[in-house]
Amino acid sequence: MTEGSAGRARALREDGLLDVLRLVQRQPGRTRAELARTLALSSGSATEIVTRLKTRQLAAEVDPEATGTPGRPSPRLVAHEHGPLIAIVEITYGGWRVAAAELGLKVLEEITGKHRSREPVVVVRELRTALELLERNWGARLRVVSISVPGIIVDKRVAQAPMLGWNDVDMTAAVPATLAARQLLVANDVTLAGLAEARCGAAAHATVALYLDIRVGLGGVIVDHGRPTLGATGGSGEFGHMPFGDPASRCPCGARGCWGFELDGRALARTLGRRAPANPTRFAATVLATASAGAGAERDAVDRAAVLLGRGVGGLVNALDPDLVVLGGDAGGFLAAAEKPLRGAYRNGLMKHRRAHPPEIVRAVLGTDSTLLGAAEVGFDELLTPDGLTSWDQSR
Ligand SMILES: [Zn+2]
Repeated sequence: MTEGSAGRARALREDGLLDVLRLVQRQPGRTRAELARTLALSSGSATEIVTRLKTRQLAAEVDPEATGTPGRPSPRLVAHEHGPLIAIVEITYGGWRVAAAELGLKVLEEITGKHRSREPVVVVRELRTALELLERNWGARLRVVSISVPGIIVDKRVAQAPMLGWNDVDMTAAVPATLAARQLLVANDVTLAGLAEARCGAAAHATVALYLDIRVGLGGVIVDHGRPTLGATGGSGEFGHMPFGDPASRCPCGARGCWGFELDGRALARTLGRRAPANPTRFAATVLATASAGAGAERDAVDRAAVLLGRGVGGLVNALDPDLVVLGGDAGGFLAAAEKPLRGAYRNGLMKHRRAHPPEIVRAVLGTDSTLLGAAEVGFDELLTPDGLTSWDQSR
């Protein structure tokens, strides 16, 4: 065998191993025979790959719980107990969490904190301390640090996070020096939530999914064949700052007439003549629940916002041509509490040729963990590559 063909054979062997690992990531707990069938591998190849996965401490086979049926049940392929992990950081409006996740997206440890102050220097210091603690517990098994921020990300910096009041914050400062050599990823929270819904949630069977999410403001992402559309600088998906709202109102982002500024808990409070809520998502949940229970000012405020939401979704479907729309956070709440006005406004906003078979609008299914799962997903995308596995082998 020549050196070139030996290299090609090695690359092919590594490709087969990566295919199996990606399947364990997506569907942990399958038998060797099931994996072989799904990936069209011979049983000899499957056995050889599983042996290599065990030797490299990437995956392990465990005996399933006794099922009561006769015969010995086949062992299941899962994450290795000493295998690689992703360190996840999720910053929200109210606080943060830092977690370690293994293959198959199981969270092994989680540290949480509430913002005492939203000053970037304070938050960054708290995150660094939490990551130091995580590293003390898991060491070199942490291969990628994946950070989620409710803001616009350019490279490893938060260019603007209007809801946190952040401008140009360097997220590398949140990573302790001992972890700095690992791969660092920084992404927008809603982009990650939409990615998780597209990979393993409500849009798992869509080709091009439009995900929209109302938390504090509105964000979204187009996930095209499992990949998020990020734009030239990574800042795509700020659908909440399209001028579908009232041109007289000024959004914290600096623009006027922003759509998202009229849809979240702060907007509902303004419509109802209440004080600005300390926790807009909790306030919106209360208003949505009251509206669902009956008539009154809350009902009117929710219906009004649902119409505004539905009309905007129609416009985005005209422009972007998705085959499914998924609504997460309070956007999903509007679909549950005011389905008729939302769907009516959506249909009215669609161009004629789309009305016979409009893309379906559904609620997100992954709940408050969607961003965390998305951050783990992009972390494993980075790790489950030839370079990622080489770095894992060298770390042991
Ligand atoms: Zn805005």
